[in-house]
Amino acid sequence: MAVAEKSFRNYIGGEWVDASGGETFESRSPATGELIGTFPKSSAEDVDRAVAAATDAYEDWRLVPAPKRGEILFTFGQLLIDHKEDLAQLMTREMGKVLAEARGDVQEAVDMSFYMGGEGRRLFGQTTPSELRDKFNMSVRMPIGVVGVITPWNFPIAIPSWKIVPALICGNTVVFKPATDTPLLGERFVELLAEAGVPAGVVNVVHGFGGDVGDRIVRHPDVPVVTLTGSRETGVAVMKNAADHLKHVHLELGGKNAVIVLDDADLDLAVEGIVWSAFGTSGQRCTAASRVIVHEAVYDELQGRLVVAAERLRLGPGWEESTDVGPVINRNAIEKIHSYTDIGRDEGASLLTGGEVASGDGLGEGLYYRPTIFGDVEPGMRIAQEEIFGPTTALIRVRDFDEAVRAANGVRFGLSSSIFTRDVNRAFRAMRDLNTGITYVNAGTIGAEVHLPFGGTKDTGNGHREAGQAALDVFTEWKSIYVDYSGRLQRAQIDD
Ligand code: NAD
Repeated sequence: MAVAEKSFRNYIGGEWVDASGGETFESRSPATGELIGTFPKSSAEDVDRAVAAATDAYEDWRLVPAPKRGEILFTFGQLLIDHKEDLAQLMTREMGKVLAEARGDVQEAVDMSFYMGGEGRRLFGQTTPSELRDKFNMSVRMPIGVVGVITPWNFPIAIPSWKIVPALICGNTVVFKPATDTPLLGERFVELLAEAGVPAGVVNVVHGFGGDVGDRIVRHPDVPVVTLTGSRETGVAVMKNAADHLKHVHLELGGKNAVIVLDDADLDLAVEGIVWSAFGTSGQRCTAASRVIVHEAVYDELQGRLVVAAERLRLGPGWEESTDVGPVINRNAIEKIHSYTDIGRDEGASLLTGGEVASGDGLGEGLYYRPTIFGDVEPGMRIAQEEIFGPTTALIRVRDFDEAVRAANGVRFGLSSSIFTRDVNRAFRAMRDLNTGITYVNAGTIGAEVHLPFGGTKDTGNGHREAGQAALDVFTEWKSIYVDYSGRLQRAQIDD
């Protein structure tokens, strides 16, 4: 499957195969419109074949000792290191993020593979005393079966790794549908897993659209676990559609993340953190800082500095060293982002900079949107409530700490939050009171590490967490085991 080939297939049961219906779709670069490749537009029938292959493979894979499964993941991690540069180059072409961030995306998968590879020698359960004599109690983690993995395009190597790697170490097999905008990276991910020694059928990739491939994975009776990262709307649909089979559903959804800047903050640091969090990956991160909640004493100063910093950012193709902000993913995204500029204006917020599609000046056919800052935003406005998923952020003025926390918490999402302050007491109160799955102190809203839980409260998900030890809870079931070595019938809880 050389990248130069341009025409790609599904990977089912260890074989590269076309979609059963023979249809295809294209992946194109958002930076240039260049054709990246043609991929199978698969149907329910293709999913069924992949699930059958994964079901067969599960019977052996679950019995492979976990340390051996871990060794394969260590090899995979090393292969990701060996291919870090070519994967990053491909990523910058296929989805647009700048090279430094694309390398970071691959690095997250390296970190996850090594972390979970080591888990092969742990996967700790508990042993406990028994109520009865001559009896032994323990709990162990059991694999569950075939895991359906459905991913978005914004972290096309990292997010598949957060799901597939822990699923594998726990002894599950996988049917993977990569995002329709980044199929080539999904395909490369699986190729490298195969090269690392993952046996045929253990990981299968089925390309195609959410309504066909994704939906069939979600409804398939032999897929007991579905893990999805995507929008809130998709999450709600997936949860409903999986309900008939009472599946384990793991959802990582949207965000409306806030940075709080208090009156004692280091403003230079805050500006750097906000610019990185709001405009990195063109604002297309679930953890992007799309709200900045600022104490009135420093509001004017911070606003002025942010506008200067945003206007300095250079737009361009992600592979050019001078580029700070790459394109956004596709035409629908440009339209959605721009519609929020109109909404913000109509709501009475002040457009301080940006607010337009960028073209000319070396941008060619690329899909670029100028980094956009709104001032005088009220917490209830739509631009301060809804996920825009683009390079747009909203400045909200507050009088004190309590008002800042109220505003930060006053949205339906609860992924990431941040506070800039030099006051340790207020920092600790924020850590306690900000209702999000992640809180940063004196840093922006982005930059999670793989050995801590990742995910959010409220509508950002359904109570699960990705990464760290928490991921193991998604991909295993607990079994409690009682071994009676007394040689007689001992009855728990029965008075003798
Ligand atoms: P999306 O919801 O449009 O698509 C996500 C995936 O779901 C895609 O593979 C898509 O094909 C598939 N899908 C769509 N409809 C489906 C259906 N009915 N059944 C099954 N699968 C279906 O999201 P996107 O535009 O790819 O990604 C952006 C969204 O992802 C944003 O909301 C962002 O916040 C979120 N996100 C969340 C996290 C997190 O960890 N919380 C991380 C990254 C992105």
